[in-house]
Amino acid sequence: MRVYLDNNATTKMDPKVLEAMMPFLTEEYGNAFSMHLFGRETGAAVSRSREEIAKLLGVLSTEIIFTASGTESDNIAVRGIAKAYKNRGNHIITSNIEHPAIKNTLKDLEKDGYEVTFVSVDSNGVLKLDELEAAIRPETILISVMHANNEVGTIEPIAAIGELAKKNKIIFHVDAVQTVGKIPFSPKELGIDLLSFSGHKFYGPKGIGALYIRSGVRVAKIITGGGQEKKLRPGTTNTPAIVGMAKALELAYANMPEEIARETELRDYFESQIVEKIPEVVINAKSVERLPGTSSITFKYLEGESILLSLSYLGIAVSSGSACSSDELQASHVLLAMGIPAEFAHGTIRFSLGKYNTKEEIDYTVEQVVKVIEKLRILSPLWNEFNR
Ligand SMILES: *Cc1c(COP(=O)(O)O)cnc(C)c1O
Repeated sequence: MRVYLDNNATTKMDPKVLEAMMPFLTEEYGNAFSMHLFGRETGAAVSRSREEIAKLLGVLSTEIIFTASGTESDNIAVRGIAKAYKNRGNHIITSNIEHPAIKNTLKDLEKDGYEVTFVSVDSNGVLKLDELEAAIRPETILISVMHANNEVGTIEPIAAIGELAKKNKIIFHVDAVQTVGKIPFSPKELGIDLLSFSGHKFYGPKGIGALYIRSGVRVAKIITGGGQEKKLRPGTTNTPAIVGMAKALELAYANMPEEIARETELRDYFESQIVEKIPEVVINAKSVERLPGTSSITFKYLEGESILLSLSYLGIAVSSGSACSSDELQASHVLLAMGIPAEFAHGTIRFSLGKYNTKEEIDYTVEQVVKVIEKLRILSPLWNEFNR
């Protein structure tokens, strides 16, 4: 049995998405910017896709630009705002649990003279609003906070941050790569000025992202070239992927409440089984609003990598909270920010469920996780010391 429980990393493309893309991968290959008949056909498909996406998000189609990924959207947004509003100030506020696409972009901007405040989170991964408010200065030009965290699934208080940003006339960017296509919301209602998202996280193709830019917000160019995407993301239009992303979002919205209920039930069942059958486990961010399919579990006294590899051998794909850097294993900055001790952060596994996962797969996974944890703990000096 092969079970894919790494849907926060990427998802399997829906066959209906491929079907929608197919004409543009074959006969309709014109450059969407060309004025001849080939270009007009693809240009029209791009316009339709842009309108569809805008409608689903409750924004104007002129407020959407296409990029190559969530990472690129984040870069265009954050670097573009930093550059455009440089004469107004050099201070940026973010959280200390951001995805590397934001975290490393801001670290890079620090080298260029920008000052960044990384606001901390509580033990559930929820950003501390009072700390954020206290960090606001006259020279603050941008607040960038993720909508939902990719590792633990925590949903951040975006509406409240949006209000603070508005009150203080600060631009507000949200990395919504984990929420667009998963939970319903409109950037307008949450006071968001810029919003990043990515097709492959909601059963669309890889290599396509988008950025919502509220009309009136100035974004400076960080990539130079032709006139595509309001000159903010020049390069020949990726028509097949744009059509695919629009189709994927349409499918996501077609039964979003049902899928949220289904995934939440499956995830809760999974967690209750794990807690019942395995001692010394912690479900992270359990008591706050979370993404429906995300389950971050700490198996105390073990290494996440050995759990991941053992499960992989049994056909189960999960993710560990650690990032392998050359020779040392670094614990996840998200888990550490939540106050989880490094030794336990190392034993944390992310199971991320998606629309293709079934109850049978979850039962198989529970069975295998129980076996793997028992086996590994027999070999774990930390576990044996704890049990002494
Ligand atoms: C996956 C992810 C990204 C990066 O998106 P890509 O399209 O893979 O570049 C950014 N932010 C979050 C929260 C993500 O989960």
